[in-house]
Amino acid sequence: MTDKKVRHLLGLSGGKDSAALAIYLRDKVPEMEYFFADTGAELPETLEFIDIMADYLGKEIYRLNAYRGFEHYLKLHDNYLPTARSRWCTLNLKLFPFEKFVGNDEAITYVAIRADEAQREGYISKKPNIRARYPFKDDGLVKEDILRILEEAGIGLPQYYKWRSRSGCYFCFFQRKEEWIGLYENHPDLFEKARAYEQFHRDQGRNHTWTPSETLDDLIARASEIKQKSELRITRKKAKNLMEAVLMEEEDDPEDQACLICSL
Ligand code: SF4
Repeated sequence: MTDKKVRHLLGLSGGKDSAALAIYLRDKVPEMEYFFADTGAELPETLEFIDIMADYLGKEIYRLNAYRGFEHYLKLHDNYLPTARSRWCTLNLKLFPFEKFVGNDEAITYVAIRADEAQREGYISKKPNIRARYPFKDDGLVKEDILRILEEAGIGLPQYYKWRSRSGCYFCFFQRKEEWIGLYENHPDLFEKARAYEQFHRDQGRNHTWTPSETLDDLIARASEIKQKSELRITRKKAKNLMEAVLMEEEDDPEDQACLICSL
């Protein structure tokens, strides 16, 4: 009788933790398969970072969902934008493509939750053939270790960390208000696309907005007020460099916990 082959899988989100985990496990699990669920709405900095990681790992990073982007599912959902409560984007653009990639194979998925975020939970497949492992938690690695791993590998941080605190779609509704302003300043074309989705929604008579209690137009109108209070900007000014700024930052946004697969 032959042993059934178990696949070892690591999903890169474009964020710092999954990148550090890939580096950490590269030589420990040589049979690892890497994947990236591309929503079609990724930031250019994220795609650039994924390419850097592919070069470092010396292996292909499988792109999942490349031919079915956000707009396809938006239409399927009667043009209702996703929200924190109705997160059809995560299911359709991240989780289901991952489950299709695994199929019925026995698989271990390596998840980059750190030892200093033991309470963190999120969307991880519930399929019985997919088991999760948490090497950072098991080995007691915390944020400082993750940043050190990235630095020592010469990878550093994705460039969007200059104005945003996590990976994910450019229009992600988990963004802080100051990050929307970062999108406006760094990628005005993408901000305009997000604004157009919101406007379309409102033209249908729906009140929904991407960011709580105001439209993107209203948010931009009070950009200077938001920037003054921005924790991200305050931290970055105090810190010597981006690594130190990220180290100083709080990551206790409870909403963010629901979106592990997008932003670890
Ligand atoms: S990053 Fe945000 S918008 Fe994109 S799939 Fe995840 S929850 Fe949805």
